[in-house]
Amino acid sequence: MWFLIALLLILLAGAVVLWPFLRPQPVGAVPATGEDPRLAELYSQRDMLYQAIRDARFDLQTGKLSQEDYDQQAARLKQNAAAVLRQIDQLETQLVSPKLDAEIEAEVMSAREIPPALKKSASNGEVKRVTRASTDRFCGRCGASLRPNDVFCGKCGAPVDQ
Ligand SMILES: [Zn+2]
Repeated sequence: MWFLIALLLILLAGAVVLWPFLRPQPVGAVPATGEDPRLAELYSQRDMLYQAIRDARFDLQTGKLSQEDYDQQAARLKQNAAAVLRQIDQLETQLVSPKLDAEIEAEVMSAREIPPALKKSASNGEVKRVTRASTDRFCGRCGASLRPNDVFCGKCGAPVDQ
């Protein structure tokens, strides 16, 4: 009977200790780069492996694990952690690159938009200037509009003042 109560207490203590690790992570706790659920999953896997390594080290210190067992367990856990870290690296690169591509593309697009605008206003100015030149000059005698290079009025033949 006492054995059962002791076992119950141990399980209860274990549950209390493990609860923070088993509890689902609140959304706010996910780091900024963990917006992607795959990345968040990898982060939690990595943290779990780190915790497992710490647990194994603790077990070694308390004599629950032999040095040999610890070495084996730690090596396996570190291998897994390294694999997870590599996956995190890959995923982060994948997630960051499209973002950078999009930013570069946005820069290119905005840079591309300026020249046509400049070109448009420049050609407008040119059109205006040409229009002004052709309509600003009138024959002093008959009032007919003159072309820019006219020396004589095309209508009445009067010489044009340059
Ligand atoms: Zn004229």
